[in-house]
Amino acid sequence: MQRLDDLFDDVAATARPHAKRGRVADYIPALAGADPDRFGLAMAGLDGQENATGDADVGFPIQSLSKLFALVLAMQRLGSERGVSEEIWQRVGREPSGDPFNSLVQLEHERGIPRNPMINAGALVIADLLLEHCSDPIESLLELLGELAGEAVAIDESVAAAEEATSQRNRAMGHLMAAFGNLNHPLDAVLDVYNRQCAITMTARQLARASRFLADDGIDPASGREILSGPLARRVMAVMLTCGTYDAAGDFAFSVGLPCKSGVAGGILAVAPDHSGICVWSPPLDAAGNSVAGRVALHELAERLGLSIF
Ligand code: GLU
Repeated sequence: MQRLDDLFDDVAATARPHAKRGRVADYIPALAGADPDRFGLAMAGLDGQENATGDADVGFPIQSLSKLFALVLAMQRLGSERGVSEEIWQRVGREPSGDPFNSLVQLEHERGIPRNPMINAGALVIADLLLEHCSDPIESLLELLGELAGEAVAIDESVAAAEEATSQRNRAMGHLMAAFGNLNHPLDAVLDVYNRQCAITMTARQLARASRFLADDGIDPASGREILSGPLARRVMAVMLTCGTYDAAGDFAFSVGLPCKSGVAGGILAVAPDHSGICVWSPPLDAAGNSVAGRVALHELAERLGLSIF
């Protein structure tokens, strides 16, 4: 059998050329200036083994990947499954939106209830919940990510400032939800949490480690600590699978077969249940906003290691 390190290099060699088909996000300078040739892939196994190739130790803004961990933090703070259903799922749904991540259209029709926590409007509701349940939501998020990654993580302040300067659309969503009574805190405070969570910088290796607890039924294998109960971890993965890759979740389920979450800086997280946490990073995106080469890499890796959940 091929050695895992060789297999990783092979997967990278197959995926990398596909980056040419994509375009890096350009709504803020920090993303517009990203090197399109960067490519990192990392896998953190439940047995502690790590495999990585390329730029797996280079940091990038986690952007929408933060939505996953903000949801996890909200679930932790709300505790029981009952608390979670009452507080989270009354205010945000769990259906794919079929619309771009920053669309306002459904919010008006659906009376300020976002389709799911993986799109911007849903993430704003989660940020609002965090303001209620954490004295400092960003500090708590950085703590959680640092614990899971096994290393301290930090915010790129220039990215945070640029997010703030370009947040008109998110602000519009916030106003609409507030008008429907689905935000309890001042919009500026909610947006501040959201903009700063998007600006957290992590590497593919750290993110692979950070998502590994989902593969282990909610237990972080590094510490043995329960991050979420098994049922809640499974629900997070269900939301990732159906809503985690913008308007291409069906296609990701079809071609990768793993719960995934992607971000506009070109990172994609994937969870292989009972096996590992995986993260790939390559900045050029396809029309749906997912990393082009990242998607090819996850397809290849899942195929070659037989990881699909189907
Ligand atoms: N900061 C981005 C936004 O809110 C994040 C989007 C993403 O990664 O999908 O527009």
